[in-house]
Amino acid sequence: MEWCVSIPKIELHAHLNGSIRDSTLLELARVLGEKGVIAFSDVEHVIVKDDRSLHEVFKLFDLIHILTSDHATVTRITQEVVEDFASENVVYLELRTTPKRNESIGMSKRSYMEAVMEGLRAVNAVDVDFGCQKSTMNNKNMNDVCNGTARKKMYVRLLLSIDRRETTEAAMETVKLALEMRDLGVVGIDLSGNPIVGEWTTFLPALRFARDQGLQITLHCGEVPNKKEIQSMLDFQPQRVGHACCFEEEEWRKLKLSKIPVEICLTSNIRTETISSIDIHHFVDLYKAQHPLVLCTDDTGVFATSISREYHLAASAFGLGRREMFDLAKNSVEFIFADDGVKQDLKEIFDLTEGSWI
Ligand code: 5GP
Repeated sequence: MEWCVSIPKIELHAHLNGSIRDSTLLELARVLGEKGVIAFSDVEHVIVKDDRSLHEVFKLFDLIHILTSDHATVTRITQEVVEDFASENVVYLELRTTPKRNESIGMSKRSYMEAVMEGLRAVNAVDVDFGCQKSTMNNKNMNDVCNGTARKKMYVRLLLSIDRRETTEAAMETVKLALEMRDLGVVGIDLSGNPIVGEWTTFLPALRFARDQGLQITLHCGEVPNKKEIQSMLDFQPQRVGHACCFEEEEWRKLKLSKIPVEICLTSNIRTETISSIDIHHFVDLYKAQHPLVLCTDDTGVFATSISREYHLAASAFGLGRREMFDLAKNSVEFIFADDGVKQDLKEIFDLTEGSWI
C-alpha cells in the first residue's frame, strides 16, 4: 500500500461534498444538533455507515448539503479536502462541485464558488497552484520536490457540476459562472446528480453552450441502464465520461472508437452495486484494449476510500505491478483539462520521479 501512496497521482473525479472527512461531518452535525436544526442521534449512524446503495448515497448528499450550507463551512471543507489529497501525493487535482444558492443566508452560486476559492487560498500544507497565477513549478522547484527539500506543490483546477435536478436555466447559469471564473482555475463542466432524475435534453443546451465557449466537459454516464441516454451522451463527444458501468456491446464499441477517456471509480461502483463484483469490472477490458483510463475516488468521504487505496485495489484485483500502476498514473496527465503548460510540468514531475522507485 505504501508504494501506492508514494506514486505521484492525478485525481480527475472527486466531488467536494462527497470527499469530506467523517470527523468534520460529525462535528458539523453535532453543532447543528445543539442548535436544534437536526437530531444528531438520527444522523450519526448515517454518516459513519460504509455500505450504501446508489439511492442511499443521494439521500446522504441531501444530509451533507444541510451540514455544509454556509460560506465558512464550504471554505473549511475545500481546504481539508485539498490537504487530504495532497497527503496522498496527488500532484494534480480536478475538484468538482455544484454551485449552490441559499437565499436565506445570502448565498449565490457565485458566492458559493468564492468560498471554495477561499478554501484553496487557505491551504497551507502544500503550495497550491489554482491557475490564477503563473505556474510556480519551474524545474528547480520540481527537483526540490523530488529530493524532498521543498514544500510540496500541487495543481488544483475546478469543474462546476450541473445537478440533474436542475432546470435548463439553472444549468445555463452554472455554465456562465464557469466562464466568468475561467481565470480563477475553472476549466470545465460536469453533469452529475441522481442518474434516475432529469432528462438529457434538459442539460443539452447548457452543455452545448459550454462546449462552444471552449469549456471542457465530463459527463456521469451509464450509472444506471439507460441505452438512449448513454448513446446521446457518447454522440455529444464529451472530453471524458465518468463510471461507464451499464454499457452494452454497442455502447462499448462506440466508446472505444471514440477514445473518450473514462474516469474509473472502483470502490464507488462496488459500494453502490452498479458493478456486482470487482473481478467483472470493465476496468479489465478497457485496460487490455488500451482505452484511455484514469483511476479516481469519486467520493472519498462517502465511500471511505482514498486515491492510494484505489490504486492498491486495482493493483491487487487485476494483478498489476508497480510499473503498470506508475504508467497508469503518468498516462492520466493526457486527460487533464488544464493547459499544455501544466501538462508539461506534470510530465516532468513523473519523469523525475520514475527512476527513484520503479
Ligand atoms: P457537491 O457537488 O455538492 O460538492 O458534491 C456532491 C454532489 O455530487 C452530489 O449531490 C451529486 O450531485 C454529485 N455526486 C457525487 N457522487 C456522485 C456519484 O457517484 N454519481 C453521481 N451521478 N453524482 C454524484
